[in-house]
Amino acid sequence: MTPGGDKSEGGGGGLLLVISGPSGVGKTTITRQVVQCMNAVFSVSATTRPPTAADVPGRDYLFVDRAEFERMIAAGELLEHATVFGKYCYGTPRRPVEQALAQGRVVLLEIDVQGALQIRRNLPGALLIFLLPPDDRILLERLKKRAREGVDEINRRFAEAKKEIALARDSGAYDLFFVNERVEKCVEEVCDAARNRLQRGDD
Ligand code: 5GP
Repeated sequence: MTPGGDKSEGGGGGLLLVISGPSGVGKTTITRQVVQCMNAVFSVSATTRPPTAADVPGRDYLFVDRAEFERMIAAGELLEHATVFGKYCYGTPRRPVEQALAQGRVVLLEIDVQGALQIRRNLPGALLIFLLPPDDRILLERLKKRAREGVDEINRRFAEAKKEIALARDSGAYDLFFVNERVEKCVEEVCDAARNRLQRGDD
């Protein structure tokens, strides 16, 4: 990152905003709205996961094969990367993030806890937010509602989600935890936190 960069680590007054949360918490809905309200740049991750019918390549993810992903790691092209659910690789392409930060933009990363820990270590000025479900029962209901999967898969995702929440809390990496009870309120809380951080960075 920019040597001697400012508090936001952007070198240009930008802000790196990281949003994480378990599967079923409503992350994608929240991040889309935060991108709009902050006029932020959404960081499109590279992944080895195959696209689903809902994915738009290039908008949601850059879909790459394992060899290309490994090449990107070796060439230092990823800001962070992780294997999620022990299965597929996901990573944040470095260049678009650095360019947007240098232009003073807010850049939003929707990544898992392992990736957020790397960002915390390497870019301490980033603002890290973790989204929580109101409670376990609601999380399970949300996972069932959006389920394209069978019961076993839903239970696995539920167990993973609980593990991820515990990991996020224990890591000490996150600045803020917000409960996604109502989408509008949660979006507002995230945007307020980002604005506060931007103001502090300008001091
Ligand atoms: P999905 O396959 O459901 O789109 O995403 C699975 C998980 O991967 C989510 O928790 C998502 O936040 C995480 N993820 C997506 N992109 C990245 C990335 O670039 N880096 C890391 N570390 N995690 C990511």
